[in-house]
Amino acid sequence: MTTGFAFAVEAGDGAARCGVLTTAHGRVRTPAFMPVGTAATVKAMTPEAVRATGAEIVLANTYHLMLRPGPERIAELGGLHRFMNWPGPVLTDSGGYQVMSLADRREIGEAGVTFRSHLDGRPYELTPERAIEIQRLLGADIAMVLDECTPFPASEDEAAASMRLSMRWAERSRAAFRARPGHALFGIVQGGVHAGLRAESAAVLTGIGFDGYAIGGLAVGEGQATMFAVLEATVPHLPAAAPRYLMGVGKPADIVGAVRRGVDMFDCVLPTRSGRTGQAFTRRGAVNLLNARHADDPRPLDAECACPTCRGYGRAYLHHLFKAKEILGAMLLTWHNLHYYQDLMADLRRAIVAEELDALADRLAAGWRAGDVAPLA
Ligand SMILES: [Zn+2]
Repeated sequence: MTTGFAFAVEAGDGAARCGVLTTAHGRVRTPAFMPVGTAATVKAMTPEAVRATGAEIVLANTYHLMLRPGPERIAELGGLHRFMNWPGPVLTDSGGYQVMSLADRREIGEAGVTFRSHLDGRPYELTPERAIEIQRLLGADIAMVLDECTPFPASEDEAAASMRLSMRWAERSRAAFRARPGHALFGIVQGGVHAGLRAESAAVLTGIGFDGYAIGGLAVGEGQATMFAVLEATVPHLPAAAPRYLMGVGKPADIVGAVRRGVDMFDCVLPTRSGRTGQAFTRRGAVNLLNARHADDPRPLDAECACPTCRGYGRAYLHHLFKAKEILGAMLLTWHNLHYYQDLMADLRRAIVAEELDALADRLAAGWRAGDVAPLA
């Protein structure tokens, strides 16, 4: 195991856990939500503002950074933390997910994936070894193995072949990973929606031995009930002492359900991407600020939210910014959405410690069900 990287479970409520990750660049309280900093930036936010929302770790995308500005350049400039002015922990994905989604621009073989850049058509090869090398050059606190994101839907045979390729890549990724204090490598469980394949994948990965275990290939259209069923079929096969990371998830209700099933870490573009298109997450569900009902409404977006957007600006102004396509609209709404997600995670952590998670989940669901405040008369 890698030295200096640690995960301590400090409290539990049912299958849910509250804990602390220790990395080379600091500590992360779990359950944790990681804002997505695709191209070494959480879009529309300064790193100071991201930190002020309560985020303790961000995710960066290996695929985008390998194409531009290039991992060797970032390494020469002192690594990703210095490059993007984020002193806290960083998790990088392996690049696999984006490469697989290039569809007609990539070819998958036993060795890895060859693909053409979406920017300029230049050819690249991404192997398990190169994915690990890129993440080392970036300086990621937590690196991910290269895996094939199994398409959905897939037959059981297709899902099995894809998962077993990912397991061979996981072994090569582990062999290529050079231990450094405080730096970790996570394996990724695949197997589609098939419980037996998920269990097999978890067994292979725990046999290889990783610092943490991600659950991949979900939130690809299978629906929440199926996703929860896959978690129930997977989590019991993962070591209790290691962190569990559900990749690319999700909506607030998905996160609550996954935390209740034992997941510790999340990432998703939803709060940031939605923040740039006028979609807000609130204690009373989703709100579309482009809707004309907000044009004369001076009230804050979420009366219970303490973020700078809700303290300083009304719905009418946010509506105006989005109608006028002003950059500040994206900035303010991204800030609120990230703040909302971090408040949600803090509430979950407190409820786990107090063993009141069921009550919190009921309260949250009731708020989302109630819907937005009535329009002003
Ligand atoms: Zn707010």
